[in-house]
Amino acid sequence: MKTENIYLNPFSQANRNERLETTFAQIENRIEAAHKTHLGYPYNLSFSPPPPMSLGGYLINNLSDPYTGSHYAFEVCAQEREVMTWLMRLWGCHNLDEYWGSIGASGTEGNLWGIYLGREMLPDAVLLHSADAHYSIPKAARILRVPAVQVASLLNGEIDLADLAEHLAALKGREVIVCLTCGTTMKGAHDDIIGALSALKSAGYDRNRRYVHIDGALNAMVVPFLQHVPTNILPSFESEIDSLSTSGHKMIGTPMPCGALVCRQHHSTRIARAFAYLRSNDTTLMGSRNGHAVLAVWARLFGHGYGGYAHDALHCVNRAQTLAERLRGLGADVLCNPYALTVVFPEPSDQILRTYQLASNLGLAHAIVMPNVTDALLDRFIEDYADWWANQRQEV
Ligand SMILES: *Cc1c(COP(=O)(O)O)cnc(C)c1O
Repeated sequence: MKTENIYLNPFSQANRNERLETTFAQIENRIEAAHKTHLGYPYNLSFSPPPPMSLGGYLINNLSDPYTGSHYAFEVCAQEREVMTWLMRLWGCHNLDEYWGSIGASGTEGNLWGIYLGREMLPDAVLLHSADAHYSIPKAARILRVPAVQVASLLNGEIDLADLAEHLAALKGREVIVCLTCGTTMKGAHDDIIGALSALKSAGYDRNRRYVHIDGALNAMVVPFLQHVPTNILPSFESEIDSLSTSGHKMIGTPMPCGALVCRQHHSTRIARAFAYLRSNDTTLMGSRNGHAVLAVWARLFGHGYGGYAHDALHCVNRAQTLAERLRGLGADVLCNPYALTVVFPEPSDQILRTYQLASNLGLAHAIVMPNVTDALLDRFIEDYADWWANQRQEV
C-alpha cells in the first residue's frame, strides 16, 4: 500500500517525537509478538551478546576490500578480518594467505558473488544446481547471464549424483560452475560434496575447468560443529571447493540480515580492480558495506564462541529429531534429514501456518528448530497440529 504525498506532510515539530515514539513502540510490539511464535524460517532470534546500542549512533562503513582497508576512519575492517579468520578456521582453511573473505548483505549476495567468481574464471561455463537449490542460485545465473541447468534431486532433497553425472556427460567437456547446498531451504538436505567432486573428476573435469560453490546459508554454521558428521557433506576447503557462503542472520544470529563468503584468494585476485579514489581494492559487490553487521557477527562469533555454537547445533539437531518423532507419532509422514534442524510434514491449516509463520510448498510445510525455539513453543505447536490432524482425518 502506498501513501499519497506523504513527503508533503512531515510530522510537525510539535508532535514529531511523539509520532516517532508511537510508531516505533507499535513496531516493537508487533515484532516481539512475531518473534515469540516463530517456527518457520531459519532465523536464530537469540542473538546475545549483541553489539552495544550506543554504536547505533554512528555510521560505520567497511568500504571495499576488508584486507586492503581504505583511508576511511570509521570502518571496522580489523573485526571483519577476525570474523573471516574464525570462519576460515571453521571451514577447513589451513594457510590463511590462500583465502579471501568478506561480510556482505546476505546469503544471496554470497551466492551471487561466488557464481560471479566462477563465471570470471570460466566465461563460457554452464551452471549446474539441483532442483532443491535456493531460488537465489538461478536468479544469480540470470543476472550474470550464465546458462543454468537443473539437476534432479532425491526425495530427501539432496542432489541426485547419477543425474549430475548424466548432465556432465551431456555437456561433453564444456566448462561448469557447480553449486551445491549444505542444508537445503525446504528439506534441510545436504548435498554430497565429495560425491559431486568425484563425479566431476570421473567426467574428466580437472580444477581448471570447473568451479564449485557451496551455498551453506543455514547449515554451514551447523554441521561443522557436530561430531561424527560424514566428511562428504562437510562444508570444508579441505575438499576441492572454490567458495562457500552462509547467512549472518540464520545460525550465526545477528539482528540484521547479512552474510559471509569465503573463497580461494586467487579467485578474488582475478577480479580485483585497483580503485585510486578509495585507495582500496574493488573486490566486493557492494562498495559501502554495513559495519554494524560486521560488529554483530563479530560479537556473536567471539561472544557466543565455538562452544556456544557446538551446544546449539547439537541441541537443535536433537530437538528437531524429537519434533519429527512426535509428529510421526500422530501418523503424519515426516522428513527430518540427519544433522538438519528442518522438519518437513504435511501442510496444516492456514491458521497454523499463520500462527507459527511456517513456509509451505506443494502440500508440505516445515518447522526449523533454531536455538530460540523453546520447548514450550514446540509443545504448543504439536498440540495445535495434533488437533488439526485429528479433525482433518475425521473429515476425510
Ligand atoms: C536462506 C537461504 C539463502 C538466502 O540467504 P539470505 O541470507 O536470505 O539471502 C540461500 N540459500 C539457502 C539454502 C537458504 O536457506
